[in-house]
Amino acid sequence: MSFKNSEKLYNKGLKNLVGAVNSPVRAFSSVGGNPLFIKKAKGTKIEDVDGNKYVDLVLSYGPMILGHRHKKVQKAVTKSLKNGYSFGASTVNEIKLAKIVCNAFPGMDKVRFVNSGTEAVLSAIRLARAHTNKDKIIKFSGCYHGHQDALLVAAGSGLATLSLPGSKGVPEGAVKNTLIANYNDIESVKAHFEAHNDIAGIIIEPVGGNMGVVIPEEGFLQELKELANKNGALLIADEVMTGFRSKFGGAQEVLGVEADITCLGKVIGGGFPVGAYGARNEIMENVAPLGGMYQAGTLSGNPVAMAGGIATLTELKKQNPYDKFNEIAQIIEVFLLESAKKYDIALSVNRFGSMINPFFTDVKVTNFAEAQTSNTKKFAVFFWEMIKNGVFLPPSQFEAWFLSSALSEKDIKIIAIAIDKGMKKVANSNYE
Ligand SMILES: *Cc1c(COP(=O)(O)O)cnc(C)c1O
Repeated sequence: MSFKNSEKLYNKGLKNLVGAVNSPVRAFSSVGGNPLFIKKAKGTKIEDVDGNKYVDLVLSYGPMILGHRHKKVQKAVTKSLKNGYSFGASTVNEIKLAKIVCNAFPGMDKVRFVNSGTEAVLSAIRLARAHTNKDKIIKFSGCYHGHQDALLVAAGSGLATLSLPGSKGVPEGAVKNTLIANYNDIESVKAHFEAHNDIAGIIIEPVGGNMGVVIPEEGFLQELKELANKNGALLIADEVMTGFRSKFGGAQEVLGVEADITCLGKVIGGGFPVGAYGARNEIMENVAPLGGMYQAGTLSGNPVAMAGGIATLTELKKQNPYDKFNEIAQIIEVFLLESAKKYDIALSVNRFGSMINPFFTDVKVTNFAEAQTSNTKKFAVFFWEMIKNGVFLPPSQFEAWFLSSALSEKDIKIIAIAIDKGMKKVANSNYE
């Protein structure tokens, strides 16, 4: 297998792009080697510029839930393109997508579309503050909520407890209203409410997806919701990853909890830049033009992106692939655990619906600290062996693998063989 063309483009890209990527998660920093350059994709397969084809378990980090270039989505987007690209005025498609989204989430009467998950979350935080007239936000260590200043904390446990910025360029003032709690640890949340009376909201990934897959313990989210509301604060569910993916109504539907504000992204645009935040009327009425909380966007509700979102969600609802996702994830889990056992490798697997990932550790992972016990060197070896056997994974131990509804038995066989080869390689490699 050759990666010659990718390597060439990578070296070319370094001149005018930062690290030759437009998002650091695409760099192969933690697995070594050069990032792959992609030429095209169709269905479950993605093809790089050297002509190598892979079963794609990255799916653009989640959005491509139907697989790539679904016919109906392509048709809807092409049709929309013919009418123009952007108008700076309302279109009927915004109303259509808003209806689909609000019907999926019972706690949502109104929604505002933006262009990314980051934008959805930063607006939701502003909304929680506007609605409660309070400033502080509780977030959980290991949860990622986009790259806004206030939530770029708790990138590591040392920084976490001190509430220091997790990125250069984030002033301490920007995170002084951010409180850090531990996932699945209700006492760490209670302690913040005891110490502060100006907490506007708790933000959480209802299923963790950015420290690897981490599942909330039974009742945890319900307790958060009660605790928040009892103290005059709001529960903000960041469902940018899980919305329409865990179930059509997101992780909230599966886990039986209703957040006060919900953030969406990724699947909602089916590969086009769409984010959204929504809530009950009384909360959304704070947002301009109805209320005094300002939030705007030149390209927000872009007609082509809306068409992509409508077609994706309509098809997704029709397919209702959620039982299939559970079955496939379970099959992959068995492959992973059996291969690991066969080659005597410590492995722990978490999965939730169409999100799954193995941690190279014998610790059962329920929070960020436990995720960090993973052996990332083993993951790097495993990653490259998966690539060489035709499976494209996110190049990080701490990212979920995503399933699409297009996966076939043939694809699953490819995944199974690659996993076995990957584990064998892990067992036969040296780690200093
Ligand atoms: C991806 C993600 C974001 C950020 O979305 P972008 O579209 O990358 O800005 C926010 N929250 C969660 C939970 C995510 O997975």
